[in-house]
Amino acid sequence: MNYGITGKRALVCAASKGLGRGCAEALAAEGVNLVINARGTEALEAAAAEIRAAHGVEVRTVAADITTQEGQAQVIEAAQDVDILVTNAGGPPPGLWTDWDRDDFIAALDANMLTPIALMKALLPGMMERGWGRVVNITSQSVKSPIPVLGLSNSARAGLTGYVAGTSRQVAPHGVTINNLLPGIHATDRADSLDRGVSEQQGISMDEARAQRQATIPARRYGTAEEFGAMCAFLCSDKAGFIVGQNILLDGGAVNATL
Ligand code: NAP
Repeated sequence: MNYGITGKRALVCAASKGLGRGCAEALAAEGVNLVINARGTEALEAAAAEIRAAHGVEVRTVAADITTQEGQAQVIEAAQDVDILVTNAGGPPPGLWTDWDRDDFIAALDANMLTPIALMKALLPGMMERGWGRVVNITSQSVKSPIPVLGLSNSARAGLTGYVAGTSRQVAPHGVTINNLLPGIHATDRADSLDRGVSEQQGISMDEARAQRQATIPARRYGTAEEFGAMCAFLCSDKAGFIVGQNILLDGGAVNATL
């Protein structure tokens, strides 16, 4: 299938590794020129070089913390007039509902709700003016089914989901779609750190922690960044213009629900 996005420009945030990297790779494979972001320069430049070599597209890098206003300003400056925006940032730390105070919630809301909203606010007007645009927000399966130890994520991402539900319907008349991709467990550094937490808490090995989590997934494995990126590229394609305001789970069947 020709996705019809060759030559378009995309900003992919938090993209030197993991799911963001998967999205950047899949868009580059469709001939999309990229601006990619992460905090650490070394991994970011290495990712950019590998993507350029593999796909022959332009890749611009912005090393910055996307959850800060300064970081957002730098990234937005480099990404003026992009056609595609993929928002992403690290997830909040695990814990219990008794652990968190106001500052913890403010940090989580800043990272996983207000950052994507700020990026959309900056970049949607250009897309609307040009009559074409795609936004994909990387959220979490936790918006459909809460993860007890990730209460900060459950809360912040639910806020973003509500914002997207309303805003996506307001920008759709201008040829711009906004959708959310909801990862279940994928084999990335984030999954490793969650498994490390379980391993330490329960006194079991990493392999045992992983096997325990995989057993809860009907597909009996973790997803891959490549699979995740493939869905992102489809949502960003010309073919996906009628998909508006949706929350698409990629979880190997882990969320046990009919709808
Ligand atoms: P990851 O493997 O830890 O990758 C994180 C990427 O984001 C790295 O490139 C990292 O680079 C960058 N990054 C992190 N914080 C950043 C920041 N503040 N500013 C700019 N770049 C930043 O994470 P992932 O597994 O791909 O997860 C991506 C998102 O999906 C997270 O929000 C996570 O909570 C969510 N999620 C993941 C899973 C899963 O199973 N993997 C499941 C549900 C939800 P630097 O560290 O150099 O900045």
